[in-house]
Amino acid sequence: MGSITLKNVSKVFGAHAVIPSIDLDINDGEFVVFVGPSGCGKSTLLRLIAGLEDVSDGAIVIDGKNATELPPAKRGLSMVFQSYALYPHMSVRANIAFPLKMAGEDKAIIDKKVADAARVLNLTDYLDRKPRQLSGGQRQRVAIGRAIVRQPEAFLFDEPLSNLDAALRVNMRLEISQLHQQLKTTMIYVTHDQVEAMTMADKIVVLNRGRIEQVGSPLDLYHRPDNLFVAGFIGSPK
Ligand code: ADP
Ligand code: MG
Repeated sequence: MGSITLKNVSKVFGAHAVIPSIDLDINDGEFVVFVGPSGCGKSTLLRLIAGLEDVSDGAIVIDGKNATELPPAKRGLSMVFQSYALYPHMSVRANIAFPLKMAGEDKAIIDKKVADAARVLNLTDYLDRKPRQLSGGQRQRVAIGRAIVRQPEAFLFDEPLSNLDAALRVNMRLEISQLHQQLKTTMIYVTHDQVEAMTMADKIVVLNRGRIEQVGSPLDLYHRPDNLFVAGFIGSPK
């Protein structure tokens, strides 16, 4: 069950309060998009949730349990990065299996989970290839496959499509939305792209200078922006 609550979460780097204080509720199964201009703190907020950065103050509650002090591997979350971070010398199969191997799973279970993930992601015919023999979209799917096999409480995506060309980006957007409909797992998706936010989100969190300007559905933000920043950001094309 992937509910995530942030209570008074702040992050200070040196003298710079990148995130002064954030409260946020994410419900189990929701597709939540963090959107805002470059440098507003989206990645930092995601990394705090993932446990890749420590909070300066406040608490992170995952599935009803205080996770503030837990290391990333104990939070039950899977992060998908923009740069794929695939192992170039390993096959697609081995790349997807990697987190399960590290966790010491049985081979039979690994094989089944990898086959299931490959089917969901249309990678069944590519399992014996190396990453360099794949297209950008296929590589991104392998990275998602590696997140899926861990059966996380939630997926965290940090601008996963920004290295892809425009046509492929539209495709992958649809694929990730379909994946969410299939798995019904909580997803937090970071982007600076208003179109991605408007088309993918159940709930959009608009960030500006480390603060939440507004939380709402795409329609809420479009029709009832709380302030000029939200109106300008959601209303204007990139
Ligand atoms: P976004 O993902 O929205 O582009 P980031 O979360 O990457 O923004 O960065 C927000 C702010 O925090 C930026 O001003 C950035 O320079 C600063 N920042 C991020 N990580 C660090 C760090 N490890 N040390 C110091 N400053 C950082
Ligand atoms: Mg970022």
